[in-house]
Parts: sequence; structure tokens; C-alpha cells
Amino acid sequence: MQDSQKIKQLVRRIDPDLLAQVREGSRLHLSKLFQKLAEEHIARQKHPPLCSEQLQHQRDPLTHLPNRELLAILVEQAIHRSQRHQIPFAFVFIDIDHFKAINDAHGHDVGDQVLIMVSQRITAVIRSMDILARLSGDEFCLVVEELENEQAIEQVLYTLQEALKQPLEIGDLTLNVTVSIGVSLYPLNGNSYKALLKSADLAMYDAKHHGRDRVHIFSADFNQKINQLKQQQKQLRQDIENNTFETTYDVEVELNSDRVCAVKLHLTTTNLPDISAEKLEKIAERGQLQAKLNQHLISTACQKIAHWQTQTTAAVPRVILPLLKPLLTSNHGVNFIRDQINLHRISGEQLEFEVAEKTLLTSPDANKAIARLHMMGCRISLINFGIGPSSLQLLCSGQIQKIKVDSALLNNLNDDQQSRTLLDAIISLAHKFSIRVVAIDVDDNQLVRLLYALKCDGVRGQYSGANLSELALLKRLNLQNKKSSEQHPADSSSLIEAFVESQQENG
Ligand code: GH3
Ligand code: MG
Repeated sequence: MQDSQKIKQLVRRIDPDLLAQVREGSRLHLSKLFQKLAEEHIARQKHPPLCSEQLQHQRDPLTHLPNRELLAILVEQAIHRSQRHQIPFAFVFIDIDHFKAINDAHGHDVGDQVLIMVSQRITAVIRSMDILARLSGDEFCLVVEELENEQAIEQVLYTLQEALKQPLEIGDLTLNVTVSIGVSLYPLNGNSYKALLKSADLAMYDAKHHGRDRVHIFSADFNQKINQLKQQQKQLRQDIENNTFETTYDVEVELNSDRVCAVKLHLTTTNLPDISAEKLEKIAERGQLQAKLNQHLISTACQKIAHWQTQTTAAVPRVILPLLKPLLTSNHGVNFIRDQINLHRISGEQLEFEVAEKTLLTSPDANKAIARLHMMGCRISLINFGIGPSSLQLLCSGQIQKIKVDSALLNNLNDDQQSRTLLDAIISLAHKFSIRVVAIDVDDNQLVRLLYALKCDGVRGQYSGANLSELALLKRLNLQNKKSSEQHPADSSSLIEAFVESQQENG
């Protein structure tokens, strides 16, 4: 969409009075517009009934927004107004996602600029009567009064998210920032400032836990759910400190040979017995814990590879690891990987990092990190390929060796010709750039045959072996080694035989 269209759309939702001004300045850059709107807002803001000296002391020096103390006073006033007029209001808790990574990658000054620009963006799209405050660090609170109905708050939140989605330009940098938002309603979710803050914080915490970049509205069972989550995170933190994990492996096989080419490493802990490896990674999805678990996975992988090299004569498979945003967007993340490779005397080629396509598209720093990992010999594979916004340019960067087709694209493959055509096109395109294609979460033989026919290079899932213990994995590698030394290289694997048989059956 053109900037001018975006501007008009945005302003129509915010304040019709400004539309005329914006028409005149439609060539203005969006970030300038946000700044202009923020200034307008501050100029028009009705001062709360407090003396100006008090106001000065209770404003945050960086953003000039009300600080935590002033917010408490303003919310208590909003509660009185709401009681008098019998109109509910919304308390919105906004926390920037992965803000520490911005500080780490670009320094504190850039971090400060981000905080100022985020506060301006929010200020620009709220009404002059709404209250915006900086609670602390990267946390902001917004009080939206006189809500006509539930849709009204949805509209405000939508506008807020749209405004924050526009890239932030700071000097030569272009940063894409997302926020997690929690909402509580007065009087439904709390009858005091403290209670509303707590409910909105819990809702925001839940939004972070479900993947960030989203809005969650407080619900009554949050308390119990989040207390349980906090307990699990405490346990996980202890497990990371004491290194009390067990490892499990999902096997990735090459479809033309049935050989194990790589294994995806997962960690599990007996202290959280009913929690799967995937769930464990989700539990860690909060602040530093996620980065720590990711680091722990990387060091465990390097240690295991070094150990297997002394334990088996079979070719040691590459180990697949997730590379999460907090590690990918800080210099420290790649340095950590380099140090672990050197410490365990393994080769960079023995590690394969899975990166979500979206992460690469929304973070220029992630691209720099990928380039460094590529120089170190590490393999990079794109996950969730084909279901989000895809940049085909990524494929010709020369830094991607594999794409992992999301299981969502495989669902209808057996029955739907269009899905098969799409996958066929993805595979041909990838092969033109010498990129291998692997299908994930594959569990039935019929699908495997189809993938083989479409020239997909590999599969991972129940079909090839999931959640194997280290012992079972080593046994499988040794067996494969024995079998291949007995077999003539031209011998067909059982999988190919199965495929040929099925072709014959189908005439
Ligand atoms: P999450 O997605 O879980 O919110 O992760 P996060 O990295 O954003 O972590 P969190 O919100 O817990 O951390 C906020 C960080 O903000 C911690 C601190 O280093 C940084 N910070 C706090 N105040 C300031 C400030 O005034 N300026 C700058 N540049 N950074 C600040
Ligand atoms: Mg944050």
C-alpha cells in the first residue's frame, strides 16, 4: 500500500480533524507523521488536575510520558469517573518483544530511540483523553476510557498494532519492532489500579507465552495457568543451571537412500515429567530463559557430536538446532556458537540451524548473523516455508541450504492436485538454487511415496523416527553403517522398493 493511502486510512481511524492537514502533507514520511500526530496529541491533551510541579516530577525523562507513580493517580481518577458515569474502561499493558536484543545488537542509545519512537507511535493514534504512561523499561500502559462497546477497544488495539508495525527508522537502521499486549477491563477484571495492572500483566504474559506479537484479553483462569507456568519456568531455570536434561532425537532421512542425514535434538527433563520437548521450548519462551535454553541446546549438540565421533565408526549425522530470535539478533549469539564449535573441536558443517522465514524477513540483524554462520560452515535451513510471506530473494542469497516445507502444505497432498502442483513448483524452484527440500511431520508411507515422486529430498517425522533415545539413535547409525558396507551402492533401499511396488500396483 502507498504511504499516502496508509496515512489516510490511519488518520481516518484516529481523528477526523487531522485528515485535512494530512492531505496537505501526504508526501510526509510515515514516521514524521507519527511524530507530528504525537505532538498534536500532547498539545491538545487535557491536563489532569495536578499542579505543574507535581506533573514535572512524575514524568519519565526519556519519553516525557507520565511515570508509574503518576499513572497510579490517573487510573484512580479514571476509576472515579467510571463509577460516576457507569462506563467501563480498558487498561492496556504493552511490552516490546525482544527489546534486550535491540540493546545488545545496536547499543543503549538506539534502544532509547526505540522507546521514544514507540511512545510517539502510540501517542499518535490515541485520543487526547486517553492516558499513556511508561511503567518501566520497555513497558507502557494505556488507559482507554468511555468505551462505547467491546468492539471499540478492539478497534483501538487494531489501530495500535498497525501503527507499531511500521518500521522504525533510526539513522541508517530500519528496525521492525513487535509488541505483546495484555488488556484488563474495569470493573470486570479488577477494582483498583493494582488489580487492573496485575490482570493486564498476566494477560500480557500469556501473549508472550503464545508467541509474542499479539493481544490477549484477561480471562479468569489466567491466574492458575500463569502460576503453573511460572513454577515450570523456575524448574526449567534450575535444570539449565544444573544441566539435568536428557536428549531425544527426531531423525531426518534422505528419500533416495533412506539414510539418516541429520537429527533434530530436543531436551527433556524428568523434573517436568509430562512435558514434551516442544512444550519445554514453549515454557522457555519468555525473556532470557529462551535464549539460555537455546544456548544449552547448542552446547549439548556440540558435546554430543564430539562424543559420537569417538563412539561409532558410522558417519555422524548433522545435528539440527533451532536458532531463536534473541540469539540470532545479538552478536553474542553467533560468538557463543563459534566458541562452542572451537571448544568441542567439531566442524561448523556438523550443525544445521533452523530459522523461521519470518525472523529473517523482519530482522536485518538476523541476516548478518546468518552470513556469519554461513562463513563458519554451518548449514542454514528455512522452516515454515510456504505458509507465511515468502521472499524468494532469500533462496538466491546462497546462504540457505535447505527449506523445510511446513506440514500445513502437506495436509491435502494425497487428494488435491493444486497442492501437489504447488509443492512440485517449490521443489523445482529450490533445486534450481541447489537447495534441498525436506518435509516435516511426515508419518505415513503413502505420503512418503508421493513426496519421493515429487523429488522431495528428505523427510522427518514418525515415518523416519521421532523421539529416539541417544542409545536407539547410535544403534540405528551402526546398523545403517553395517548395512551399507554389506550392500552394493546401487542396491535399492527398502523405501525405493516400496515406492516402485506401489507404482506397479497402480499400473
Ligand atoms: P520479552 O520479549 O520477553 O519482553 O523480552 P525483552 O528482551 O523485551 O525483555 P524485557 O522486556 O524483560 O526487558 C526489557 C529490557 O529493557 C531490560 C533492560 O535491559 C532494558 N531497559 C530498561 N530500561 C531501559 C532504558 O531506559 N533504555 C534502554 N535502552 N533499555 C532499557
Ligand atoms: Mg520486553
